[in-house]
Order: sequence, then structure tokens, then C-alpha cells
Amino acid sequence: MTRSVNLSQTRKALAQAGVRPAKRLGQNFLHDQNLARWIVQQAQISAEDFVLEIGPGLGALSGEILRRGARLLALEKDARLVDFLREKFSHPKCEIRHCDALDFDRRILFAERNVKVIGNLPYYVASQLLFHFVDFPSPISLGLFMLQDEMARRLSATPQTADYGALTLRLQLHHHVEYLRKIPRTVFVPQPEVASAIVRFTPRDERQIGISDYKFFREIVKHGFSQRRKQLRNLLTADVGDWEDTAKKICAPLTTRAEELSREQWIELANLIAPQDGKSGPDQGPERFPIVDENDQEIGTATRQEVHENNFRHRAVHMLIFNGTGELLLQKRSPWKDRHPLLWDSSAAGHVEANEQYDESAARELEEELGVTTRLRPMGKLPASEKTGQEFITVYRGEHDGPFRYPADEISAVEFFPVAIVERWVANKPEDFAPGFLESWRLFKAKSR
Ligand code: SAM
Repeated sequence: MTRSVNLSQTRKALAQAGVRPAKRLGQNFLHDQNLARWIVQQAQISAEDFVLEIGPGLGALSGEILRRGARLLALEKDARLVDFLREKFSHPKCEIRHCDALDFDRRILFAERNVKVIGNLPYYVASQLLFHFVDFPSPISLGLFMLQDEMARRLSATPQTADYGALTLRLQLHHHVEYLRKIPRTVFVPQPEVASAIVRFTPRDERQIGISDYKFFREIVKHGFSQRRKQLRNLLTADVGDWEDTAKKICAPLTTRAEELSREQWIELANLIAPQDGKSGPDQGPERFPIVDENDQEIGTATRQEVHENNFRHRAVHMLIFNGTGELLLQKRSPWKDRHPLLWDSSAAGHVEANEQYDESAARELEEELGVTTRLRPMGKLPASEKTGQEFITVYRGEHDGPFRYPADEISAVEFFPVAIVERWVANKPEDFAPGFLESWRLFKAKSR
């Protein structure tokens, strides 16, 4: 199935596929099979992996990926190459899809385990492709990319260097980015104008990142680097009240410029000056909830801590919000939640508070968590059980297309997902979801039959 390739074989393959390499498609084909093997080795691929390859071309990397027993989904924009590849790799674990990788619905990947994205990227869209696949929240466990050397250096740059900039920080915020090796022009047909390099992305542990609002982080970094030579105290005057105090807190000199701050200092700075919406506090609030008996009749009140420590039955609401095309909004719980941090959950959810009916708390939670109001229809009620954390849950559905405004200390992202993807995701990786959502989802499925 897989063969070693060299220059003349690559030329032959191009002739066979009827392809004259097109510059507008960034077509430079790798003809050094030893190098292809080395590149794929850096992704530590095993038979359990699901590999997405961007721009397989003549299959120099694809063959190596399949050889390791992984499932391969390869996205190729050039129809002539698609026909060639389908013939070359007719293999049960391989799918060659004819599409523009930028149009590929990456949400599909959330439903798969051990997702790795690999590509010798077409340079004309390399940065868009990177953002498309690795921007937060990303489903990938590893990314391995061949890029122009200059870009690879920017992505993996360290502070106080000319390569270090807003792009570096945007991508390094959620990933370790390693520059693995420079690749000479001579290993390609045709030879590109500049040298290339291989970079590897591995996601950071979200609990260690420590950013409270990543969208704000991106904005402030972009602003800070908009005039590289300018000192931040002059550039960020509108954002930072007391620069002297702020500089001290982030251990930076008063005269610091954007490129002098490390990733950690930028995170600290963003956290210090991020606008607070003042609506939500950390999870361990002092609120008291009604506690109830096995028939959901109120028998008293208790604090959040007491409720959870003693496994008291109590009440909650879960809202499933759909957009105009029937996709379901899911929220990713922030790393600071005391319960189920980092897991995906219903669009909005929360406890019924004292002196509140289910319907009232549903409307309140929707407004507090997503910043919207809409008609909510109850779909049914789940009994309190171990599966629901002893919550009686009334599940609602509603429609809204967003935009949504959510408290960054409680929710780190929200995203719409087609119902078919959620179904596959829940079946394949239930551990990605908060248990209350899984029960609410089952109720939704039962009601939509
Ligand atoms: N992986 C092959 C190799 O290493 O020899 C080919 C790499 S070549 C630099 C880039 C490949 O991406 C080409 O096959 C090109 O047709 C394909 N391509 C270009 N733009 C694309 C896009 N937007 N979506 C998917 N594939 C694309």
C-alpha cells in the first residue's frame, strides 16, 4: 500500500494524476520519503488516533499515517489529487474528502478521541488554517504543521525577540508550540521560494493557563503590539488605570514594551485590567437553596456547601437553546467551577433559589449566564437521583441565535453544535459532559422521538 517515494517517482505521480503544480494552491510536494517518515514520527501516532490531514497532495504523509494504523481523514482541495489519492489509498481506515479545509466543520472532531491534525500546509492560507483548527476551544490533542520558516519562528518565539508578537501569544496561550526542525527547499517539487519548518502544537492544561477572559486577552495583546516600539504605559492608557501599580504587580519595568512581557505577564496583566461585569461571583457563594423531599416538596433551606456535602435533594433548571438551524448551544464550564470544571454542559443551568419557582429561575439563569431572554418551554422534569447529583431538574428549550455575553469566570466558551454531532459525542465520550447535561440530553432525545 505505501511505498517509498523519491524525486522521479513524485514527478511520475504528478503526471499520472494529471497535475501541474499550482502556485495558487500552494502546491509543493514532498519527495523525500525519509523526511516524510520523520515528520509523521513527531506526531507519535498510534492505531487509536484519529488523524485529520490538511492538503495530502500526492500522499507523502498520508501513507506514513496509515502505516501506523490510525484512522485518516484527508482534506484535499484539488479534485485531480482526490481521484489519485482515492485510488492509491483504498483502505478501510482512510477517507479522502474533496473540500476546502477552511470550510471543513471542525466541530465534528469533538466527537472523536485522540484527534491529531497534520499538514504540510499550503502557505497562502496557513495562518487561517491554523486558527481554524487550533483556536480555543479546540478538539485536537496534537497539531503538527509544516509552515514557512519565518512563520514557524513567529509561532514559537520567545519574549524580547523580533519574532515575538500578537500571533505568538494568541497561539501560545492555549498550546505549547515547539519549533522542531528547519526544512530545506530542495525536498519539494517544485521548490518553494523560501525554507520551511516543522512546528508541533500540544494543548496546555487548561487549569494551568489561569486566564479569566481569553477574548479580552487577545484584544489587549493585539493592542499592545499594534505599535511595537511604543511603551505600554502610553499605549494602554485607556485600559490601565494606575500603570505604576499594574507594572509592579506584573513585575515589569515602568517603561516596558509589548515584546518584553512574557506570556505569564500578559496573562496577569489581562486578568488585572479585564472589565468585570460584576454579575457573577465564584461558585462558592453564600446563597441558600430550598432543600426538598423525595416528592420535591420544600423542607427547608441550606447553603450550597451544605447541599453538596450532605447530598440534600434540591432543585435545578437546565436550558437547551437552539439556533435557527436547529443547532444546540453548549457551554464549556470554566476551570474555576467547584463542580465539573472544564466539562461541556447545557446552554445554561443553575439552582433554583429560595422564594423562586422553576420558571423564574430558568429565566434568571438564562439572562445571567448568556445575557439573553427568550421564551422557554418546559420539556419535562428529571427526578432527583445520584445521576443528577440529587437535583430535581426541570429541562427547558428555547430558541436564540446569539450573540451571547457570558461571565468568563464561570463559562470559558459557548458554541453551537449540530444535534447529530452532540449525539455522536455523547455516545463516544460521555466523560466530556457534566452529568446534569447528559440527563437533560436524554430527556430531550426521548421527547423529540
Ligand atoms: N502533503 C503534501 C506533501 O507534503 O507533499 C502536499 C503539500 S502542499 C504544500 C499543499 C496541499 O494542500 C496541496 O495538495 C494543495 O492542493 C492542498 N490545498 C491547498 N489549499 C487547500 C485548502 N484550502 N484545503 C485543502 N487542501 C488545500
